Amino acid sequence: MVLSNDCKIAFIGTGIMGAPIAGHLLDAGYSLTVHNRTREKADGLVARGAVWADTPAKAARDADVVFTMLGYPSDVEDVYLATDGLIRASKKGAWLIDLTTSSPQLARDIHDAAEVEDRHAFDCPVTGGQQGAIDGTLTLIAGITSKDAKPVLPLLQTFSSQIYWFERAGAGQTAKLCNQISLAASLAGAAEMLAVAEQSGISPELVAQMVGAGMGGSVQLSRVATRALEGDYAPGFLAEHLRKDLMLALATAEDLELTLPETETSFNLIDMLCQAGGSRKGTQAVTLLYTDEATSTAAGLDWSLLKAEPQDADPARQRYYTGTKNL
Ligand code: NAP
Repeated sequence: MVLSNDCKIAFIGTGIMGAPIAGHLLDAGYSLTVHNRTREKADGLVARGAVWADTPAKAARDADVVFTMLGYPSDVEDVYLATDGLIRASKKGAWLIDLTTSSPQLARDIHDAAEVEDRHAFDCPVTGGQQGAIDGTLTLIAGITSKDAKPVLPLLQTFSSQIYWFERAGAGQTAKLCNQISLAASLAGAAEMLAVAEQSGISPELVAQMVGAGMGGSVQLSRVATRALEGDYAPGFLAEHLRKDLMLALATAEDLELTLPETETSFNLIDMLCQAGGSRKGTQAVTLLYTDEATSTAAGLDWSLLKAEPQDADPARQRYYTGTKNL
């Protein structure tokens, strides 16, 4: 049975993606309580009628449905599995829906812990970017069957245009990592193509237009990399989040005994950008790796920060970056 229109919703994580997604739930008339680590990022939603809560636990206490849109697997682990985390702080029968791009294994752990405590939890990462979140046209990648998700379907539809059902816990995250593998390769290809055009003295804008109209085009070229041609490195999608996604993808491949040389290269590129001070820039800043030092320095990078080896995630959090066999 579908949840009624007067069901109570909590939304935790009102950053680049979370704020506009939560806004669509408000626009649809749902009663919304919000929490974010940095309170000001929820101010716009509170001004539109959402209620602020000081902690994730307080936000979730009376909610029928709790959405999370956090940054990293470590954030998801804290918010769900800590002593006062959502698994225990939410009410029995509540739906807990994680929209973060996170670890498949962590999604399975959360699903299982929720089941034991009589809650429903599923992974539901998204694709479509900041603009898709603003327009309410995201593609959802759900680790649940459409039949099981029926009670919350109208809520999901307030901010999506299509939903792919991957049917079991963690499978939504695995499918999302497949998306990121393809995205990263397209982004690197676009950056390298623009660099060759620029160095050759032919118009990169015209090349981008020509390639976009043919078989070499991609969304990463037309909507992301070309922003760099205007000197726009502001984040729609943070470089450090793509770095996280590629780490998760490589860990998943390792579990499957697969080698992904293309993804390893993409990871090394984005890791280099992050180390040089570009972690909070948009992913289009990967194009700065192909410019001269004066240009990249003017854009805010500092190559003296670069370390010899790629930097691993916080070792205390390794288990959700590495695969199941390493648990
Ligand atoms: P973001 O702007 O950094 O949003 C994440 C939000 O979660 C931040 O506002 C952060 O608070 C909050 N947060 C983290 N830990 C928290 C905690 N323990 N308690 C409360 N709030 C917490 O990033 P985003 O771009 O919206 O991306 C969110 C997720 O979606 C990431 O996993 C990303 O990979 C994925 N994603 C992003 C895009 C995109 O185009 N941006 C597209 C698809 C998927 P602070 O404000 O204090 O940092």
